[in-house]
Amino acid sequence: MNEKPILIGVNGNGRMNGKLNGHHHSHNGSDHTSDIGDMHVATSIDTPLRKDAFDLSDEEKVAIIEEKFREILTTLGMDLTDDSLMGTPHRVAKMYVKEIFYGLNPANKPKISVFDNKFKYREMLVEKEIQVQSFCEHHFLPIVGRAHVGYVSNGVVIGLSKINRIVDYFARRPQVQERLTVQIANELKKALQTEDIAVVIDAKHMCVSCRGIQDDHSSTVTAEYSGKFNDRATREEFLKYIRL
Ligand SMILES: [Zn+2]
Repeated sequence: MNEKPILIGVNGNGRMNGKLNGHHHSHNGSDHTSDIGDMHVATSIDTPLRKDAFDLSDEEKVAIIEEKFREILTTLGMDLTDDSLMGTPHRVAKMYVKEIFYGLNPANKPKISVFDNKFKYREMLVEKEIQVQSFCEHHFLPIVGRAHVGYVSNGVVIGLSKINRIVDYFARRPQVQERLTVQIANELKKALQTEDIAVVIDAKHMCVSCRGIQDDHSSTVTAEYSGKFNDRATREEFLKYIRL
């Protein structure tokens, strides 16, 4: 079985004008209107949000989405008077707003407190195998995988669990893996007040495994390196730790 990940460089050098390069699972033969989505091309580093994104309360959003999802199921021909289906529109709406897309709302951003690095530890710190549960913004299907984060402390450190929280916060939005990788790296740069950050994400896309090309073995690797991680030796040390 060929389970080699597809390696995509999304490092600072390879990126132009804030645009991201899409990764390319070949989805030949799909209909042309969805070509951009099938190539998983993201158009910007910031999640495309409307100015009025948070004018409605969570409760108002749940009520609206519930109604729309009821329409989707009805259109598909489902009988919503069935006991098993009755609660589905509300359940899905609540899940969208409160759980799987909670990371859209800046009010939910984890509060990061930093500490002085008392041990004067100036070596690389790596946290690997951080759970990533996200949703592809082109198909609204899960992206599931692991993130690996490395940094060299500039004198401040953050609690390790905060790294997990940052990863989770940015993952819980309709996403594109390249954008997620860069968003996490940028947030860590701010929190840790350093450019010396590496973020690698290795994830499976359900939109690749259960539709389109239906390949359930391939995974996608995206990486963002900055500062000292642009040096070959530092990067190789990091890659050795995460053994990709
Ligand atoms: Zn997709």
